[in-house]
Amino acid sequence: MSLNRSARTTNPDEDEQFYTDVNSPPTPPIIEPRTTSSEGNAAALGVQTHKTCQHQSEHCLKTIAIPHDLVAIFSQVAASNTEHNIETCGILSGTTNNDVLKITHLLIPTQSGSANSCSAEREEDMVSYQTCRDLITLGWIHTHPSQTAFLSSVDLHTQLAYQLLMPEAIAIVYSPTYEETGFYHLTTHDGLNYLKKCHQTGFHPHQMEPPLFETTKHTKIDRDTNITLVDLRCQ
Ligand SMILES: [Zn+2]
Ligand SMILES: [Zn+2]
Repeated sequence: MSLNRSARTTNPDEDEQFYTDVNSPPTPPIIEPRTTSSEGNAAALGVQTHKTCQHQSEHCLKTIAIPHDLVAIFSQVAASNTEHNIETCGILSGTTNNDVLKITHLLIPTQSGSANSCSAEREEDMVSYQTCRDLITLGWIHTHPSQTAFLSSVDLHTQLAYQLLMPEAIAIVYSPTYEETGFYHLTTHDGLNYLKKCHQTGFHPHQMEPPLFETTKHTKIDRDTNITLVDLRCQ
């Protein structure tokens, strides 16, 4: 397995046969706000308010630190599903401290999957786990057991929901067959604006250019932190 950050991205819309990923989430866990003020709501949702930024741009994004062993641990968790050509999904959870966002926990929800889909169930368990530990959602990860690493049209809409809650949120796609891992983010202007206006569901074509997503520029591998695995499927 290699952690290739410039993962080869297949352009799915060009080859429908190859582009069968119809992943349906996990959607971002919504944590109930504890206050009624807008700032309180944003904090409760794990949304960072960028007081010096008038609009969301790449310059405003904080760096997300990713534990070095995250993908290796996830690949082990997913191995059994992968063997049976079934997708696995997880939530990237962590903390914010002094303008640094750190992924610390990999939450594996109760889920059901197929060769090209994965649906989280009992999402309230994830919300409860995070709320009790003051963890916020920083993105999601899923496997493409038999395809390359890329974001399908459904993945793009899932990622939109994450980025609307947390501008820095990332999507990681691990492809065991092609031994590649993609770290993705919607392009700030083109991707976000285009997907906000697209109301189609399921597999559907999107514009090819300009690209709707790209490899992340605001992530770094944290060599000093090990991921904490929380497999809620076991409970
Ligand atoms: Zn996918
Ligand atoms: Zn769409």
